[in-house]
Amino acid sequence: MSDISDSHKRYLVWLTGLSGAGKTTLAEALNQVLAPSIILDGDVLRQGLNRDLGFAAEDRIEVGRRTGEVAKLLLTAGFHVIVSSISPYCQIREQVRQSVGVDPFIEVYVECPLEICQQRDPKGLYKKVQAGEIKQFTGIHQAYEEPLAPQAICPTHLKSVDECIEIILAAIPGHNKEG
Ligand code: ADP
Repeated sequence: MSDISDSHKRYLVWLTGLSGAGKTTLAEALNQVLAPSIILDGDVLRQGLNRDLGFAAEDRIEVGRRTGEVAKLLLTAGFHVIVSSISPYCQIREQVRQSVGVDPFIEVYVECPLEICQQRDPKGLYKKVQAGEIKQFTGIHQAYEEPLAPQAICPTHLKSVDECIEIILAAIPGHNKEG
């Protein structure tokens, strides 16, 4: 049983996983059931806040740091924050956990085998990788480090979006789909 005060706390739900694993899809679905909530999408942030950064490891770490800092401001302003970002290294996620604090940080591993992500290819990126148009792609040229102890794991190749949302909500103290 969670404490009644849990429902007033704000959480940072950090969706990490390969491109095509389902982060954006789950972020949008979660945004419908968490309130008040706001999505920080890695691709969107790269168009503005992070447009000076590339895809080398140190740049990805800086992307994570900035995303965490923005999330922190939004938490303070009273929002639940849903981050959708490949954030491939444990170091990235750990630095955010340290920065926002252990308690509000809900790390969600959006798990899906690379082969299925490639088949889905929702943004056509794997096709571009194959054509040699994109370098430094996570899962192909660069490593993806699986979370070691995430608060939730969503195997999107095995479970529906609704089932994944249930898994995530179960990891957020004081939240369920009815609440
Ligand atoms: P990402 O943001 O991780 O790159 P997207 O959410 O853009 O991934 O794309 C994931 C694709 O997989 C979508 O076409 C989505 O409909 C599909 N999909 C199938 N099952 C699931 C699931 N359980 N959760 C999330 N996405 C799923």
